[in-house]
Amino acid sequence: MRLSTITNWAYGATVVLTLASATTMLLASGADRRERDAVAERYALDSATAHVDEDIATLSDLARHYAISGNPADLVAYRQEAGTLATIEQRTAHIRDAGASVEEIRDLHQAMHWADALQAQQHAAIAARDRDGRTAAITILFAPEYQRELERIQGSVDHFQERIDQRTAAAVDGATAASRLWRTMSEIVLALTGLLFLFVLYFIFRRRVLRPVVKLSDVVTRLAAQDYDAEPPEYERVDEIGDMAQALRIFRDNGIARQRLEQERDADRSLRDLLSRMTQRLQRCDDIADLSRVVQRFVPEVVPALAGRLYLLDQERNVLVEACSWLDPRYSRAEFVPTACWAVRRGSEHRATGAAVDVPCAHVLPGDDRQPETICLPLAAQAGVVGLLYFELRDGFSTTGAGDVHLKMLAENIGLALDNLRLRDALRILAMADPLTTLANRRHLDAVLGNLDAKPDHPISCIMLDVDHFKRFNDEYGHEAGDAVLRAIGATLRAAVRQGDLAFRYGGEEFLLLLSGADPRQALDRAEELRHRVADLRLQFGGRQLGPLTISAGIATAPQHCPADRLVETADAALLEAKRTGRNRVVMAARENSSGRINQRMG
Ligand code: GH3
Ligand code: MG
Ligand code: MG
Repeated sequence: MRLSTITNWAYGATVVLTLASATTMLLASGADRRERDAVAERYALDSATAHVDEDIATLSDLARHYAISGNPADLVAYRQEAGTLATIEQRTAHIRDAGASVEEIRDLHQAMHWADALQAQQHAAIAARDRDGRTAAITILFAPEYQRELERIQGSVDHFQERIDQRTAAAVDGATAASRLWRTMSEIVLALTGLLFLFVLYFIFRRRVLRPVVKLSDVVTRLAAQDYDAEPPEYERVDEIGDMAQALRIFRDNGIARQRLEQERDADRSLRDLLSRMTQRLQRCDDIADLSRVVQRFVPEVVPALAGRLYLLDQERNVLVEACSWLDPRYSRAEFVPTACWAVRRGSEHRATGAAVDVPCAHVLPGDDRQPETICLPLAAQAGVVGLLYFELRDGFSTTGAGDVHLKMLAENIGLALDNLRLRDALRILAMADPLTTLANRRHLDAVLGNLDAKPDHPISCIMLDVDHFKRFNDEYGHEAGDAVLRAIGATLRAAVRQGDLAFRYGGEEFLLLLSGADPRQALDRAEELRHRVADLRLQFGGRQLGPLTISAGIATAPQHCPADRLVETADAALLEAKRTGRNRVVMAARENSSGRINQRMG
């Protein structure tokens, strides 16, 4: 049952009981008044009838005194007494006025008539006293008839008084009982009203005040402990408790907003810390493999809701190639042309789905039932777009969970790292390259020689070449023509190298080839092939045909001829042998003997 229904019923019952109480109080008051009236009537009737029998008895006694004594004073007293007696009507009028009924007064009337008749006998006795003497008067007044008459009168008056007494006593008793009853009723109803009032008061206090206050107090305690799951009750009441509930709701809303802001600020701070650490690691990367490891380690931490791939631009083939991926991306191809990505085309972020409608990129495969949510961020460098950072929303995540600003920071940092890497590579290439022939230089060779690992099943061969009589060539055609010849020989070498081979300009007109996995026989073949290619060169410079070119070559293979760290030295010795034995030839080093001497063998 609703609280309002209960309180309405309680109010109704209280009103009814209050009315009942008032009514019973009024009735009790009426009964009290009736009791007082009955008592007053009884008192009045008692007073009015008290002298009726006394008067009759006194008059009879005075008559008898005179009859016995004959004293005139007694006669005077008798006559005075008789004179004071009024008529019967006069004597009964005030009794009737006092409340006696006609019926009741009839007895009194009867007695008074009899008394008047007795008075006639008294007069006769007085006359007989005066006339016949004492005995005659006594005979009349003390006769048994006279005595009976006197008793009859007394009896009739007693009967009247008894009736009056009974009636008034009954009236007083009735009025007293009624008064007591109504008073008791009034007290009971008053007590019930009081009890009901107290019950309603308690009920309302408990339901309307105590319970809400206890509940609000509990919510306040929890909110003070920053437990914002505590929800203030919805009291739509226009009173202090309603105001408190409303204030608590506002307090809780503010608390939740403040907590959310703090969480966002903390999350942002930790993300920025993470990005800062990632940037530091990226700056220390030596190569793309390093960079890929850093990206794979940090990016899923920054944006756990997004799987992704890092693509790098292969400029020679003009394709974007996957460098690494994280969290198993499913939709983007591993390799595609730059024009397949709108972000690369436009040079800015591209999202195919989301708030703004846009065209999906061609490198993104369509999803099973809907277009996957993807984000493409071009990686810009000084030279333009050098790669792409691709993201897709993972299953089970509804939002990216990262702000645009964080994604942009990721792309900028990775782009910057790629730029650094490329610049460093370019510098390294410049430092390691010979500017005339663009082949690797002696410094590069030194770096490579330190890391050679030759085994019997994986030999490394070194071919050392020297242009024959190059000084004469310079002298005859000029230094610039000599440079052109060196460039042509460099181009011949570069064209001749295979996968795993390295070609160097060793210095001056000397060149060197390192053939990974080539045994002496294969190295000899390659050297002979080179010798023929150079011999076949037909060069012109300044409109002049340049004379024939020949080269001499020395070959050494590790570990067959020498250890890897002595390859150049051994090949150089073989070359010297080729020069010594007539030039335009290839000489292979022989196995070092126990004395360290090197035996050569002509190719
Ligand atoms: P050999 O057959 O014994 O090797 O005789 P060679 O003349 O080739 O050998 P030599 O060591 O006497 O001379 C090498 C010459 O190469 C000397 C030098 O002027 C020339 N030379 C070295 N570097 C360059 C270069 O960069 N450009 C030009 N044009 N000539 C160079
Ligand atoms: Mg030389
Ligand atoms: Mg030479």
